[in-house]
Amino acid sequence: MHYYCNICGKKYSSNELVWRCSCSNFLILKTKGVLKKDDIFNERYSLWRYEKALPVKLDDATVTLQEGFTPLAKVNWKGIQNYFKVDYLMPSVIL
Ligand SMILES: [Zn+2]
Repeated sequence: MHYYCNICGKKYSSNELVWRCSCSNFLILKTKGVLKKDDIFNERYSLWRYEKALPVKLDDATVTLQEGFTPLAKVNWKGIQNYFKVDYLMPSVIL
């Protein structure tokens, strides 16, 4: 897994603390591949159900609030059916 720039082609290790390329372009994360259905831990109700796709492992995480599964509110807005995340119900308010 690494980051790359689609403008200049420069590559960065995923361990490097970079947020953009030296040419100022954004970086794209290149992963091993697509997560398969069998790779998902169905018994986990948090972000950690996708652990196999993450660069860190659950055992390495020192703090977790079991974030994930933010409730959705079904709302008809301007005649279009939408789903909005109800973030204020989650302890971390980020997922
Ligand atoms: Zn670049």
